[in-house]
Amino acid sequence: MSKIEIPIYDPRPEIAALRDEIDAAIRRVVDSGRFILGPEVEAFEEEVADYLGVRHAVGLNSGTDALVIGLRVLGVGPGDEVITTPFTFFATAEAISLVGAKPVFVDIDPRTFNIDPELIPAALTERTRAIVPVHLYGQAADMDPILAIAKEHGLKVLEDTAQAFGGEYKGRKLGTLGDAGAFSFFPTKNLGGFGDGGLLATNDDEVAEMARMLRAHGAKKKYQNEILGYNSRLDALQAAVLRVKLRHVDAFNQARRELAHAYTARLDELAGVTPPHEAPYGVHVYHQYTVRVADGKRDVVAAGLAERGVGTMVYYPTPLHQLPVCDYAECTFPEAEQAAREVLSLPMSPHISVGQIERVVRKAEEFLVRL
Ligand SMILES: *Cc1c(COP(=O)(O)O)cnc(C)c1O
Repeated sequence: MSKIEIPIYDPRPEIAALRDEIDAAIRRVVDSGRFILGPEVEAFEEEVADYLGVRHAVGLNSGTDALVIGLRVLGVGPGDEVITTPFTFFATAEAISLVGAKPVFVDIDPRTFNIDPELIPAALTERTRAIVPVHLYGQAADMDPILAIAKEHGLKVLEDTAQAFGGEYKGRKLGTLGDAGAFSFFPTKNLGGFGDGGLLATNDDEVAEMARMLRAHGAKKKYQNEILGYNSRLDALQAAVLRVKLRHVDAFNQARRELAHAYTARLDELAGVTPPHEAPYGVHVYHQYTVRVADGKRDVVAAGLAERGVGTMVYYPTPLHQLPVCDYAECTFPEAEQAAREVLSLPMSPHISVGQIERVVRKAEEFLVRL
């Protein structure tokens, strides 16, 4: 196979652009000798809370932990059912299972790839406790009808915002619309650190206090453990790097949007490829630029692009209800299954040039006409 000339994601240009700021931030932490929580994490939490327009931001070890801790602080536990989408990263459902609850999947809206609110009522039972919508690829799930259903049935809403830092729904930042929002700072995310990291955002004082306890072994005061918790503290080096990147995240998200629109303008003319749909209610921050390739040609297109030096990925090839670890043999979610067969994510990061996008599209054109 030929060398990948345009990878799906390349962290190096962003690091190069921010090098001096990042070096200074890391040096500050090293010199401080404080590596877990502490002033750097507190400053980051304040800055994120400010950015999101939310009362509390609690820094955690990962997005997965943010989901687990978010579910626990919202009172989800054994015997409960939690409604979510089958078309997401495994961690969404894994977290639900890890707190002892059962994920109940609801099919997606084929245009946005996000949970279809119209299908939620049929999935409710007396054990339903919460809804976990995922803002997949950086685009908002349709939150108003989800929040209305939750209100009517007394359910909690935890937003999986791992892929959508800075994205919006009707003028409000994602991760602040439900009872809590779970964020991931995995290096490839729109706001990514140099390791694992996560955060829970909430307007509820008690939820925030509980989350702070759970991240530190269930103790408010050191060695006064009140409940069983976790070791899920954000570290100061990640917080320092994330503080630098937070200052640039709007510009980076804007760059992603412009590149996405450049892709879409070109791909719209290409038969067999459907560019992503931007729902009118939100600001899509394009964590991924994901097209559909119809008629079973997705894998051929991916291989053809790889041969021509263009990296692509399939997020996600198997809907969660079909994974070996899950036991949903009786279930079928046709839209999620079709999406899993058709989706293809193209190179996307704030530092790709429009020229590179033009090259990706031309390479796709080269062989698509012959298929
Ligand atoms: C990345 C991701 C997570 C998990 O975040 P980690 O920080 O890797 O634990 C959860 N949900 C979704 C949708 C994700 O993309």
